Amino acid sequence: MDFDYTPKVKELRQRLTAFMDEYIYPNELLYYQHTDSKERWQPVPIIEELKPKAKAAGLWNLFLPESEYGAGLTNLEYAPLCEIMGRSPMAAEIFNCSAPDTGNMEVLVRYGSEEQKERWLKPLLAGELRSAFAMTEPEVASSDATNIQASIRRDGAEYVLNGLKWWTSGAGDPRCKVAIFMGKTNPDAPRHQQQSMILVPMDAPV
Ligand SMILES: Cc1cc2nc3c(=O)[nH]c(=O)nc-3n(C[C@H](O)[C@H](O)[C@H](O)COP(=O)(O)OP(=O)(O)OC[C@H]3O[C@@H](n4cnc5c(N)ncnc54)[C@H](O)[C@@H]3O)c2cc1C
Repeated sequence: MDFDYTPKVKELRQRLTAFMDEYIYPNELLYYQHTDSKERWQPVPIIEELKPKAKAAGLWNLFLPESEYGAGLTNLEYAPLCEIMGRSPMAAEIFNCSAPDTGNMEVLVRYGSEEQKERWLKPLLAGELRSAFAMTEPEVASSDATNIQASIRRDGAEYVLNGLKWWTSGAGDPRCKVAIFMGKTNPDAPRHQQQSMILVPMDAPV
């Protein structure tokens, strides 16, 4: 079996490494100064400054396998790039490759309606919004979705969600405008068919 990187990946690795050397490692102190301050939950200025440079360098949205929107890499091709980005805590966001946005964008690409794509996916792909994924709950072992207790109930033209979530990364970011919320829509169905996920605008009424 050939485990060597493809020419495309070798070239991207070189460009990514050069970007890390030129812009990311020399600016890490600024990132730590921000995250050690009272402003830690606010957008990090040096990240915002470097995002347009990464975009201009074609090092943007490297995730998204089998999609017209991303760099067209398979997961196998993307992994060695993650290895490089993972060397700095601020790198992934600069390349618009940070969780939970990556997984959420992938869900929107594959299952979102045209309206949802327009409202959430496009600005996420542009790095203008952030998003959250709300699955984990304090009362249950949340690595197993069948344990999730939150409910999603349809009420006329609306949905009513009831449940307590925690560890929802990025929910405190002022740019976070949407969460993918996991809950049970049908507790009487077979064990693995009870759950659904629903998009929740962060300003939905409580
Ligand atoms: C930095 C960070 C960011 C996070 N961001 C998010 C987020 O954005 N959204 C979100 O929803 N959650 C988030 N989480 C929560 C995280 O995903 C959960 O902690 C994780 O899913 C595990 O759930 P749990 O803590 O309930 O552990 P448990 O489900 O209790 O699991 C604990 C351990 O037991 C093992 N285990 C569990 N059940 C079984 C079983 N039946 N058999 C054998 N082994 C088992 C698990 O593999 C694990 O090793 C985040 C956590 C961290 C640390």
